[in-house]
Amino acid sequence: MNIIKVKDSQAGGKKAFELLAKDHQDGTLHVIGLATGSTPLSLYKELVQSDLDFSKTISVNLDEYVGLAASDPQSYDYFMHKNLFNQKPFKHSYLPNGLATDEKAECARYDRVIAEHPLDVQVLGIGQNGHIGFNEPGASFDSTTRKVKLTESTIEANKRFFERKEDVPTYAYSMGIRSIMQSKKIILLAYGESKAQAIKSMIEEPVSENCPASALQQHDNVIVIVDEAAASLLGK
Ligand code: PGA
Repeated sequence: MNIIKVKDSQAGGKKAFELLAKDHQDGTLHVIGLATGSTPLSLYKELVQSDLDFSKTISVNLDEYVGLAASDPQSYDYFMHKNLFNQKPFKHSYLPNGLATDEKAECARYDRVIAEHPLDVQVLGIGQNGHIGFNEPGASFDSTTRKVKLTESTIEANKRFFERKEDVPTYAYSMGIRSIMQSKKIILLAYGESKAQAIKSMIEEPVSENCPASALQQHDNVIVIVDEAAASLLGK
């Protein structure tokens, strides 16, 4: 893993943007995997302010809450439109459908989307529990898209986006770890002390399904962009 330390999330967003802009200019960025949460926001700000043209680029998001319509302000579809797609349209942007009634068919549809649009770069955040996407601890490294139950730790971490903790959906559709690992390049971003242990486990501890992000040790093109707080437990 190539670890890049930055001052803060703003600098991290700039660094990630530079990497993506280079791939875009080189003509190697046809399909980009995108993430939600607070972490990628500084990157999306850079993308929105840039003159990069994504009208020929496909985006494929990691996950979506089960039970929320795309029009629901808490859905990831809404989040992506608000923070990126409305200002910077892509040729096509794919997300799982949170309202799909046939779970199996929805997961199969999403796996077909991923198969038809192989990821050139996947942008990732990391959960405090080491999750990537909504692949929670214990998820198989061989997993593909499926409906997952969110852990208490994830619900606790995400409740800040909702009025009440009870409003946080308990299930999500998530791209699997196998699909994430098939991306040619992975850029993982992490900021703040709350991510320090997950970053240490991901990089320095033995590969284990207890830390889904540790799977990335087995990928040969991973760039980790961390601020000092998130990197604070490394090398100790
Ligand atoms: P965050 O979430 O960016 O809101 O911290 C990251 C994640 O859970 O993957």
